[in-house]
Amino acid sequence: LRNRLATTVGGLDGIGFDELAARTAALVRESGDRRPVLTVFGSANMDLVATVPTAPALGETVTGTAFRTVPGGKGANQAVAAARAGGVTHMIGAVGDDEFGAEMRAALDASGVGTGGLRTAEGASGIAHITVDGKGANSIIVVPGANATVTGLAPEDERRIADSDALLLQLETPMEGVIAAARAARAHGTRTVLTPAPTQPLPPELLDAVDLLVPNEHEAADLTGERDPHAAARALLALVPEVVITLGARGSLYAARGAEPVTVPAYEVEAVDTTAAGDTFVGALCTAYGEGVAMPEALAWASAASALAVRRPGASSSMPTRTEITAFRQ
Ligand code: ATP
Repeated sequence: LRNRLATTVGGLDGIGFDELAARTAALVRESGDRRPVLTVFGSANMDLVATVPTAPALGETVTGTAFRTVPGGKGANQAVAAARAGGVTHMIGAVGDDEFGAEMRAALDASGVGTGGLRTAEGASGIAHITVDGKGANSIIVVPGANATVTGLAPEDERRIADSDALLLQLETPMEGVIAAARAARAHGTRTVLTPAPTQPLPPELLDAVDLLVPNEHEAADLTGERDPHAAARALLALVPEVVITLGARGSLYAARGAEPVTVPAYEVEAVDTTAAGDTFVGALCTAYGEGVAMPEALAWASAASALAVRRPGASSSMPTRTEITAFRQ
């Protein structure tokens, strides 16, 4: 690989990471390759999912019917969605030096996500301990583990963000790191897309660096106090230039300053498992938009991607490939 790179970029002797990244980016531009480059800054969790007929009450022990471990976390899920949708995708974050960490890294690698920015921190990986009862209702305990160490950017992270068409952010890692990443994107002219989940107050220094906010309808209501999505979108436009509110089976609402809002319908499909529908939507949306597709068309594409994901069980394992999304839309 080193030899091939050396031939392609014109020699590697004495050149550092920054120079190599700049030469590679220039070659990609010259080649006319329209694949967008996306960087996801965020969480990686191992989901530990126990299925039980009835969830245990305090002090009670129950016998479950199934158990599985599934790589997840909103950051990793968005990265897998973007890579499958055709984006050249890099992940910045951290896993622990345990078996879960190795498994999560391998799962991202297998999906084609670049893991050069995924550090291995001393100690445990982040986990989400999930109990699903017989009615499909769940309760979740998240232990951040290594995600708590993602508090800032290494110089090569900043370079990755600078060379990207978009930076995808969520709020499962410490706020100071999210702000640092958003500021780096703003400084380098990279578009910043924030999924404000889990809901929490959004500091002005973060909002100042966000181009597109993508809450679901509950997050939008929590952030604005407005239950009506149109009213919530109007309130959010006072904070950021563009908003997409996802509305589950009712589709999504896109609003931008100075333009009429656009409603994008969801595809009618039989929903088997809606886990990570929102992350699939964001990953696919950023891929399409990064290719230069106009927003309404990019939203329709994201709607198709998430419809395909809800038709299948699983979180990242249910996310569709570019070929599947394109075929579904025809
Ligand atoms: P999650 O938290 O499960 O990742 P979310 O609450 O963030 O999801 P939703 O608003 O539920 O996000 O869904 C995102 C998008 O996925 C919707 O805008 C829609 O396009 C698609 N979608 C979700 N549920 C369905 C469904 N039942 N049928 C078709 N499309 C769906």
